[in-house]
Amino acid sequence: MSRTVYVNGAYVPEEEATVSVFDRGFLFADGVYEVTSVLDGKLIAFDGHADRLARSLSELDMDAPVTKEELLEIHRELVKRNDLVEGMIYLQVTRGAADRDFAYPTDATPTLVLFTQSKGLVDNPLADVGMKIISIEDQRWVRRDIKTVQLLYPSMGKMMAKAAGAHDAWMVEDGFVTEGTSNNAYIVTKSGTIVTRQLSHEILHGITRAAVLKMAAEAQMTIEERPFTIEEAQNAAEAFVTSASTFVMPVVEIDGEDIGTGKVGPIASRLREIYLDESRKEAI
Ligand code: PMP
Repeated sequence: MSRTVYVNGAYVPEEEATVSVFDRGFLFADGVYEVTSVLDGKLIAFDGHADRLARSLSELDMDAPVTKEELLEIHRELVKRNDLVEGMIYLQVTRGAADRDFAYPTDATPTLVLFTQSKGLVDNPLADVGMKIISIEDQRWVRRDIKTVQLLYPSMGKMMAKAAGAHDAWMVEDGFVTEGTSNNAYIVTKSGTIVTRQLSHEILHGITRAAVLKMAAEAQMTIEERPFTIEEAQNAAEAFVTSASTFVMPVVEIDGEDIGTGKVGPIASRLREIYLDESRKEAI
């Protein structure tokens, strides 16, 4: 089934959508992206994603191709044209096409591409059994707060996890977990405190992270924002990850060691439930 995708102002069948071979997204990974979830045909946390996009663009001195209002309109139009009920909307902005040169061009028009992916997100079987994680060295560039499309190392990380019979990898730098290949990482200590690394250039400022921490605080849960080690994680009561498309996803094993009982823990389950309930209520 052919999707309708958005490319630079036009809604076109996916087979007809094209971007220049001189596009800097293609040549230099000179582009940023966002993934917004859709539940019941509505956008989850659109504001957060649009604001983070604006920040990524500004950090790279890139122009915003459209306003936030236009962006919302494009998202809604794609949901409508593709009858999207549950899944994701992927958005990418690049600096545009220009003759190949490392220095930024001054006159390029940004490229804007969006497409939908229909996928069951809520009934993810992994939410019942939990994920197995391996640890790998974090070898990414150091401005991980900018959501760029240079995702080769995270892809390698996912392949390393797959080869080890695990679902994903957590990356470690100077002895401490930074984050997952495509999610933020958390542990729950034996005394019930939720621990996740503080915001900095070292990790992506997850939109789901912000929402989940707010909801956890509202539910009177205790939160500590600080780095933790793999060893601390292996000795924790629970662990989980968050991202726009997996929401809150329990982790039950790290580097072959069971976390807690080796089963999905109550805090991760509760947070997934709260996050889904609240997000659905606030969806637009
Ligand atoms: N960290 C990384 C490295 C990611 O790629 C992602 C998802 N894109 C996240 C964290 C989670 O961010 P969000 O909750 O905004 O999806």
